[in-house]
Amino acid sequence: MDGKNVIKVRIQRGTAQIGGVCTEVFTDQARIFFDFGTPLEGEGNQDKLKIDGLTQGVANTDAVFLTHYHGDHIGEVPDIMSGIPVYMQKISRRILQAQQEHKESVGQVVWAKDIKELTTGEAITIKDLKITPLASDHSACDSLMYLVEGHDKRILITGDYRLHGFYGDRVMKTFECIGPIDLMITEGTNIDRESPFSHDEKWVEEQFIRILKENKYVFLLTSSSNTDRIASFTRAVPRGKHALADGFQTRIMRIADAEREEPFKSHKLWPYIEEKRDQYEQRGFGMVVRTGEKFDSIVKDFFDKYPEDTCLIYSMWSGYKKLTNMAKILAYGEGRTETIHVSGHITKEDLERVIDYVAPCKLIIHHTDGENSKKNIIIPNSTLLLSPADGEVIFI
Ligand SMILES: [Zn+2]
Ligand SMILES: [Zn+2]
Repeated sequence: MDGKNVIKVRIQRGTAQIGGVCTEVFTDQARIFFDFGTPLEGEGNQDKLKIDGLTQGVANTDAVFLTHYHGDHIGEVPDIMSGIPVYMQKISRRILQAQQEHKESVGQVVWAKDIKELTTGEAITIKDLKITPLASDHSACDSLMYLVEGHDKRILITGDYRLHGFYGDRVMKTFECIGPIDLMITEGTNIDRESPFSHDEKWVEEQFIRILKENKYVFLLTSSSNTDRIASFTRAVPRGKHALADGFQTRIMRIADAEREEPFKSHKLWPYIEEKRDQYEQRGFGMVVRTGEKFDSIVKDFFDKYPEDTCLIYSMWSGYKKLTNMAKILAYGEGRTETIHVSGHITKEDLERVIDYVAPCKLIIHHTDGENSKKNIIIPNSTLLLSPADGEVIFI
């Protein structure tokens, strides 16, 4: 094959590690990238990706598309040479900017303001490639999948996704209607974990409702950018009680809610004001907290004063429990903490279901450390599972 009039794909990083993914799709005319992340701590090669035409040398990249704002997908974006357009879903971009502005005083550069905004479902054409952003479902707000079309070929890049979120049905519908796919590049974070009876976000919301009924004061410890989780917590706060966060978290939720369908918006969330403490104590509340001194003292106060009426919900990946600041806040609620969480990533069983529906001609599973487990996944006979190494070129 001489490479003329074909689409080529090169997984720059991510074939054998979760973090730091970067996928290149190119033709004789166009060169585009999807995600440009940082490796997870201690996983895989920690060196920064150096790519001619993207991070060094003479720029020859037409665009970079980001699936969502988690660091393992965007962490190395600041290394992209200036002048190369970077695209992201609009709400997701605004949340990222708000996060960066929040940390500006401690040296964070607010580069998200230079990112171009995409609207879900609205395709853009770059030379001989058409790129359509598709709605997804992940633990990051308004994350995207991308459909890339050109030269009679169609490539689906899933990004991080799942079927057990609030929009699982919508994601499945997308797969059912997507049409023939020549190459599907899917994440496989949970590929080596059997989870036939896993819970979903609706279950999480039911647990929030129960805990908020059983306890007058409830703290939720979760990622500030897991907006679906936080919105469902605020919806679970009973009438008459306060739904609280700090100013930053409230701002994030206002951005996330702006174009959200009514059933998925947050409810009555307001910033915690110390002067209103009497009201909060009197009526009870559900409050979103993070690590750090500001929240430590509030959480500690309520556990000291009302040990029988206070509960802390831990709602994120269990691995973070070991972090020093996390261990500190969790210690205040020792014996009164519930862990309520589901993954942002597709289960092995759902991944098999999706592959069966999409029935791509070729399949690449990246964003996984379960290299050997790829062999155990059940895929249709018509699908060829490719296992390229990082940097290897694949002709579609
Ligand atoms: Zn992610
Ligand atoms: Zn990821």
